[in-house]
Amino acid sequence: MSQIRILPPILRNKIAAGEVIERPASVVKELVENSIDAGSKDIRIEVLYGGKRLIKVSDNGKGMDREDALLCFERYATSKLHNEEDLFRLSTMGFRGEALPSITSVAKVRLVTAPESTHRGVSIEITGGEIKSVKDSPSVGTTVEVRDLFFNTPARRKFLKADNTESFHVIDRVTEQALAHHEIGFSLVSDNREIMRIPVASSRRERIVQIYGEEFVCRLVDINRETTGITMNCFVANESNLRSSKTYQFIFINKRPVRDSSLTHAIYNAYEGILPQKKHPVFFLFLTIEPGVVDVNVHPAKREVKFENKEPIYNFVLSGIKDNLPRPLQPKPYDFPSTSVISEAFELGYRTSVSFMPIGDAFIAVSGPAGLTLVDQHAAHERVLYERFLGGVDMNPYLLLFPRQLQLSPKEYHVLLANGPILKDFGIELDDFGHNSIVVRSLPEVLRDADIRGILADIASCLTEGVPPDRELRETLAAKIACHRSVRGKTILKQEEVDQLLSDLQKCRHPDSCPHGRPTRIFLSLEDLKKMFKRT
Ligand code: ADP
Ligand code: MG
Repeated sequence: MSQIRILPPILRNKIAAGEVIERPASVVKELVENSIDAGSKDIRIEVLYGGKRLIKVSDNGKGMDREDALLCFERYATSKLHNEEDLFRLSTMGFRGEALPSITSVAKVRLVTAPESTHRGVSIEITGGEIKSVKDSPSVGTTVEVRDLFFNTPARRKFLKADNTESFHVIDRVTEQALAHHEIGFSLVSDNREIMRIPVASSRRERIVQIYGEEFVCRLVDINRETTGITMNCFVANESNLRSSKTYQFIFINKRPVRDSSLTHAIYNAYEGILPQKKHPVFFLFLTIEPGVVDVNVHPAKREVKFENKEPIYNFVLSGIKDNLPRPLQPKPYDFPSTSVISEAFELGYRTSVSFMPIGDAFIAVSGPAGLTLVDQHAAHERVLYERFLGGVDMNPYLLLFPRQLQLSPKEYHVLLANGPILKDFGIELDDFGHNSIVVRSLPEVLRDADIRGILADIASCLTEGVPPDRELRETLAAKIACHRSVRGKTILKQEEVDQLLSDLQKCRHPDSCPHGRPTRIFLSLEDLKKMFKRT
């Protein structure tokens, strides 16, 4: 029996209109959402040339009968919404009846579908919105093939990016949907290569492990909270899983991936006092909110939502995370040496074993007859490492006795393997281990105890997001790795470490600033001090 109806005009006007199909990834998102709404347990996605040539989504959901299959291409034809009240109690991903007609107006589409437990399927071909053929076709579930996206709108086709970039967008969308719906299995094949194969998972945690690996998930804190009308389940980074990009930040509201600056703000706020400058937390926030108090009908691609009352949700998320984040240990108080800390002959040319005094846990003061030098230990170390990585010399790559196997996200895996030669320049050698895993064969000596997974993740996001126009890729990568490896603020250094750091800094070509342009050291000469004390 037919289930699809055309929305009456009064309801059409209440729907947030706008362009839903921007690029191949938007087609993937719409088709996958339809498969989810159809109750599928297994969804397969295939793309060719980043989806420009072909996007194919097959599912094992409830399918459509002939009548619905013909109706679904009409504007405002939907089985998910019947009256205005439905808009406020939506439990489906789609509801506007706009996706299929929008897709068919700009591509060549074939739909093969059969209603559940019959094999009386139908195959329909429709190009540029015009039905070309309707045939019987025994099948199970639904398959939609979308060929030659924007074939009839060259201006829009021109805005598509390189195949690789478009396929990264596809991976992103599939990853989001897979995170949101762990009870569904997904697979993604791009240019005949399997990029993802994730079977049905029994929990969100298991799903995150399937995509990012156990090691990554071990460094997340699992937080569950509930209050009237809202349930929160989130996985957030502990102190050892902070990143220099915002790549791993996901918010899902009622299983919908959304962007929400206020909830993001709440999470950053929860990290106050833990998050070093320029670092970002990893988070997967899943909120289940009564449909009546959250409006999903505000954005054409449903990327944003509106809350009836934002404040309680903000506070709920903030306190839920803040109360459960392990706070870092306070640094140990410093033992002052009994001898005077004033060095006899300290002149910017650092000598071995300088007397120094830690100031708080981020700075060191070194004094000498010519004045006082204040050093930002993190910035200084960053400068030293940065020049070393840039120079490529003296990286001392060493072969790992027990090569480390790491599971990466599908996107990281592809971009890192594709950029092997650049990584090799930095002394990092990787091998393909299949199924989104790599093996790290060699590492530069300075990265011996580093968080290599974190470093690779940062390099991958740098490679996919591109570099700022005034920088070279090499420099950007060197700065990323240096920042990772350098002494964090909040560590009190030992004598040998200070000696090493100061002498290394002295040898740098640009010792006075870190790769981000902040000063590494400030010198106050005797003259300056005299002026400050109004002695002159
Ligand atoms: P919406 O999802 O907003 O209803 P669409 O244009 O995406 O609008 O789809 C129109 C209708 O086609 C849906 O309401 C649904 O009834 C049907 N449909 C689309 N895709 C599928 C699918 N994979 N399986 C079963 N039915 C589908
Ligand atoms: Mg839809």
